[in-house]
Amino acid sequence: MDVSTTLSRLGNAASSFLAGKHQLFIDNQFVDAKSGKTFDVFEPSSGQMIAKVAAADAADVDVAVAAARRAFETGPWSKMVPAERGKLMNKLADLIEANADELAQIESLDNGKPVTFARFIDIGGTIDMFRYMAGWATRINGETITPSIPGDWHVYTLREPVGVVGQIVPWNFPLAMASWKLGPALAAGCTAILKPAEQTPLSALRLAQLIQEAGFPPGVINILPGLGETAGAAIAAHPGIDKVAFTGSTEVGKLIVQAASGNLKKVSLELGGKSPVVVFPDVDMARAIPGAANGIFFNSGQVCTAGSRLYAHKKVFDRLVEGVAAEAAKIKVGPGLDPATQIGPLVSQEQLERVTGYIAAGRRDGATVVTGGKRLGDDGYFVQPTILADTNPNMSVVREEIFGPVICAIPFDDDDLDRIAREANATSYGLAASIWTTNLGIAHKMAKRIKAGSVWINTHNMVDPAVPFGGYKQSGWGREMSHNAIDLYTETKSVFASL
Ligand code: NAP
Ligand code: MG
Repeated sequence: MDVSTTLSRLGNAASSFLAGKHQLFIDNQFVDAKSGKTFDVFEPSSGQMIAKVAAADAADVDVAVAAARRAFETGPWSKMVPAERGKLMNKLADLIEANADELAQIESLDNGKPVTFARFIDIGGTIDMFRYMAGWATRINGETITPSIPGDWHVYTLREPVGVVGQIVPWNFPLAMASWKLGPALAAGCTAILKPAEQTPLSALRLAQLIQEAGFPPGVINILPGLGETAGAAIAAHPGIDKVAFTGSTEVGKLIVQAASGNLKKVSLELGGKSPVVVFPDVDMARAIPGAANGIFFNSGQVCTAGSRLYAHKKVFDRLVEGVAAEAAKIKVGPGLDPATQIGPLVSQEQLERVTGYIAAGRRDGATVVTGGKRLGDDGYFVQPTILADTNPNMSVVREEIFGPVICAIPFDDDDLDRIAREANATSYGLAASIWTTNLGIAHKMAKRIKAGSVWINTHNMVDPAVPFGGYKQSGWGREMSHNAIDLYTETKSVFASL
């Protein structure tokens, strides 16, 4: 697949955006990196270079932090009433909606995901998130408290924005992840420095143009593409940043925590997962088969909550695995901008090597490849939807996050929910799980026993801006979405007045 075929599928707006300059967005200005450096962006279905983007480093982060600090302490943002902040956020959501097709094309081009999914899930989800969080701007309130101290008191709390926040996001849902971060920060009255992933910086830079158009005051939102080791590390360590929010690998999450310890900035983390899909013998197969297939193959498995361990009771195991394999064989794998595509390529050469490396390790360790297992074609980063069976709990494919369209099918022969849950929980992660049964009692008993931030019953990968999202164990710290996200971006101040 040549990149020109993909580029020819872009509309005029996306084409002219791509042809433009891709600079840092600091204090409402588009500027080059101080170093003059850029990095290359590749199109995943061809592996060819499509853009050069300014590469921020520590010096640019310093400038952005100064701008964000000014905006937070003394700029018009600091004096804006909550309703005005909400209005600006709604305006931004309207602009995203008005440019949704273009943004979906940019996202598909940059990440490789199917453009129709990008339109409804990534861009649609971004619009919903900004609108939901815009509503919170006017609903962030403290409380009055009656203390038991002798005397006459008026005691109350104030909820105040935490300050200047640094936000580092990954490449799997680039714009949507930016909205999960910016939405609650803006609602709370913070100012932000956002670093998109080096693989997928383009939609965040188009967002920067819309932020300018919406009329946000200078310095409120700064967008700094750059490498993790330079720009990301500078954000995590910066003494002028009050809070850092990160989504990505558990490995980098640990680096963020270390870097943040210098000024003890607040930290929230959304990290990896190895989510079990637990299937009971009374399951409705007509739902479980497509459910399990979508749970792992959606977004080419590049989803932190991907259902990557299929635990099924022996009574239904063979039928289920056959069914998921049949679904996998039907999936149309292709370039994201081809409207017929259901699964795109992986995001990068690095991910291609990582995922095919895991499949090879699984084979070496004795796993059976039920379906898939190979790279597709010689160009681009395509991998077949893959099912592995005959695994054991020590294999890396069972223990580690693969972040590709690869599921390990593992049978269980047990009726004891505690033992089943123990096996489902036997991972250092705890992001999500799904339970498939028609028995209400089993469903809710299992939901209690699973150690994960999200449990889905007869469905998988469901999120909503009003519902908390985050991880137990090494899947993270804190909860995003819902009022929980507002907590991440506010400080609580207690005021005691002796009357
Ligand atoms: P990653 O390195 O964790 O990247 C996530 C973000 O962190 C990117 O913006 C990255 O910047 C930045 N970053 C990297 N090193 C940093 C550092 N030392 N300090 C501050 N920021 C830093 O993830 P990846 O390398 O792209 O992918 C590796 C694996 O991570 C995947 O295979 C998958 O298992 C996992 N992952 C999980 C999620 C999730 O949603 N939980 C998302 C993506 C990846 P650069 O892009 O410039 O390096
Ligand atoms: Mg990395």
